[in-house]
Amino acid sequence: MFPNELQARKDIVYYSHKTHAAGLVTATDGNLSVRLDDQHVLITPSGLRKEDMHIDAPIVIDMDGNLVAGDRKPSTEYKVHLEAYQQRPDVKAVIHAHPPKAIAFTIAGAPLDTCMLPEVVVTMGDVPIAPYAAPSTDALPESMRDLIAKSDALMLARHGSVTVGPCLSEAFKRLEKLEHNAEIMIYARMLGGAQPFSENQLQELQGLRGFYGINTQQIACAAPGARPASGSSAPPAQPVVPQQVQPYQAPPVQPQPAAPAVSAANNNNANRGDRFGGWHDGEAQAPTYRRSGAGNHEPEIDELVDEIVARVKQRL
Ligand SMILES: [Zn+2]
Repeated sequence: MFPNELQARKDIVYYSHKTHAAGLVTATDGNLSVRLDDQHVLITPSGLRKEDMHIDAPIVIDMDGNLVAGDRKPSTEYKVHLEAYQQRPDVKAVIHAHPPKAIAFTIAGAPLDTCMLPEVVVTMGDVPIAPYAAPSTDALPESMRDLIAKSDALMLARHGSVTVGPCLSEAFKRLEKLEHNAEIMIYARMLGGAQPFSENQLQELQGLRGFYGINTQQIACAAPGARPASGSSAPPAQPVVPQQVQPYQAPPVQPQPAAPAVSAANNNNANRGDRFGGWHDGEAQAPTYRRSGAGNHEPEIDELVDEIVARVKQRL
């Protein structure tokens, strides 16, 4: 069953804003899509920041990548989305993002370590890394062809993530989990290294998939030594070229003029204005909605989406 186009547009706007707000894309990176039927895909266009996504922006392409509806150019990475849909008829939504911590593992030549946390073992398994291929080339979808058939989440080496699902909500959940797992594993490695589960513990966790009704497509986790060759395939680490490092020298300290005394008559807003960038007495209102920057502003996004949907309905 496919979503209607209006709902798909609304979902793309909502999850575009969420992906940006969570720091999982930057600038105009990344793309989101929803399958409208067997022959058509609604996808974010090229060159538009995800924080600026609006309901008219996504375009419709066919399964060969031809523009069917919309006045913008398709994202240059539409081939990644079409590859996922072609390999997986069960997939209805795809998110390609650039999660920084997970990408760092692929640059370091380290496996993603997605077999260390119980909920990740159960819901995502051993997330694979596709070998490096240049963005926007035909080699990129080819690099992930075998892996997307086996897993609802994967990394493209030195580039980004691909997460899929029956809807954008599920694809986004996998993306969040992937990046959160990477963050925890960075901490674990800083503390001396990640201690793996035993084979028995992994089997127990995988047995819970049925109990929780989880049927995601994934590569089952295996204990070290029992890991199949097709598992988490980190690309070989690149040789590190030693560099001459100059010792750090602190810049000379400039004498600062003494700060003017703040009288008790000045209210707190004046001080807050100095700290947060220039709102002063008489205009001491913090902006209620910031489209850029981190933070939880889902209610504002909901309002924005509802307003846009209302305007579109008026035009129909
Ligand atoms: Zn990308």
